[in-house]
Amino acid sequence: MIGSVAIVGASAAGVAAATTLRDEGYEGEITLIGGETDLPYERPAVSKDILLTGAAPPIIPEQRYAELNIKLLLGTRAERIDARYGQIELSDGRTMVSDRLLLATGGWPRRLPVPGAELGGLHYVRDARDGQAIRSGLRPGARIAVVGGGLIGAEVAASAVQAGCEVDWIEAEGLCLARALSRPLAEAMMDVHRQRGVRVHANALVVRLIGERSVQAVELADGRRIDADMVVVGIGITPAAELAEEADLTVSDGIVIDPFCRTSAENVYAAGDVARHQTRYMATPSRLEHWRNAQEQGVTAARAMLGHRQPYDELPWFWTDQYDLHIEGCGVMRADDETILRGNLADGNATVFHLRAGSLVGACALNRQGDVRGAMRLITRGLTPSADILSDPTKDLRKIEKELSRASA
Ligand SMILES: Cc1cc2nc3c(=O)[nH]c(=O)nc-3n(C[C@H](O)[C@H](O)[C@H](O)COP(=O)(O)OP(=O)(O)OC[C@H]3O[C@@H](n4cnc5c(N)ncnc54)[C@H](O)[C@@H]3O)c2cc1C
Repeated sequence: MIGSVAIVGASAAGVAAATTLRDEGYEGEITLIGGETDLPYERPAVSKDILLTGAAPPIIPEQRYAELNIKLLLGTRAERIDARYGQIELSDGRTMVSDRLLLATGGWPRRLPVPGAELGGLHYVRDARDGQAIRSGLRPGARIAVVGGGLIGAEVAASAVQAGCEVDWIEAEGLCLARALSRPLAEAMMDVHRQRGVRVHANALVVRLIGERSVQAVELADGRRIDADMVVVGIGITPAAELAEEADLTVSDGIVIDPFCRTSAENVYAAGDVARHQTRYMATPSRLEHWRNAQEQGVTAARAMLGHRQPYDELPWFWTDQYDLHIEGCGVMRADDETILRGNLADGNATVFHLRAGSLVGACALNRQGDVRGAMRLITRGLTPSADILSDPTKDLRKIEKELSRASA
């Protein structure tokens, strides 16, 4: 019998776990401890809605916490845990005890390791405050340097140029978005960003930020200087695993969990960006930094606490919005996969399918999310349509999946 559950981290994974506990009929205490002061909000909005409109939607409406009898401790950090006794020391000086503990602490933005990184006008992109601070600098004509060619850098660059800013987007490797998206799609998106007015600098390593008190320019390894009123850095996260480390849980680039989100300590679970896990879709254990992974692992952890034996085995899925383009991806895509193109990338309507050893393993789509949803069903069932079908934009993959499932039954 579980009398109390404490969840550290009030975001996608933590809120999903709390609401799932109630959905599953759990009637004991639930305490959701969040270091941020805002009502838990949809973090993906930080580089999109907040920059463009100033607002992020809440994960659930405020009154739902009271209705579900979920105790919210916002603006409160868990400073230390003792896994043996379920003890949590809080930043307000209190110590609480719970029967089950979920660590859903996400990650901290990786810092730019160069001289000048302490100057004013430099922002990271993790929480709503970061988003608001960046938004206040997105004035027409402002010069914005975005460092980091991943999804967050891309979204910030898109939002900034839409706000009328002069945008320089800087990436150390040869192609922005290459690790996040299928390569042909990443290449197409570079053209999109350039057409919209973003100056893209690939193979460009930032070595120094220049300025007196506030940043005025970014210096690159080849000696170039890019003038900037504001620098926004999105170069990845490090897992917020410090509580777990101090409590001697197994940590290796994230808190190591099993398919039921259990950590190495009894009654302690982890979920979301902070958790390192493996499913049948992954060659090696890894952390995923996608909203759906966090949410679904929160669900799995909650169910596991209640004794359900449903392992986490979700196919990775993510989305990103840049300008009026909606991109979705699923599966595990590698640069050496065979790829099949459907549609036309230059028209902003295309899907790239990834095959490995003849089997469909992933898909990445530009404004064709139906293809990704169909591909997800195919991949989870181990089905691979012919190249003719995959390359034909008129073929509905959800129907194809049903046909192939029937044929193989
Ligand atoms: C700017 C941005 C845009 C994104 N866009 C997309 C997108 O378009 N699509 C997509 O699929 N994914 C996107 N993501 C990723 C997605 O938001 C994350 O995968 C998801 O938020 C992870 O949820 P989480 O609950 O694991 O952790 P987080 O959302 O990181 O939340 C962890 C929370 O724990 C708190 N915390 C940490 N330590 C403590 C402590 N000791 N005590 C109390 N609280 C603590 C943190 O302050 C934070 O509030 C985006 C992420 C960012 C940052």
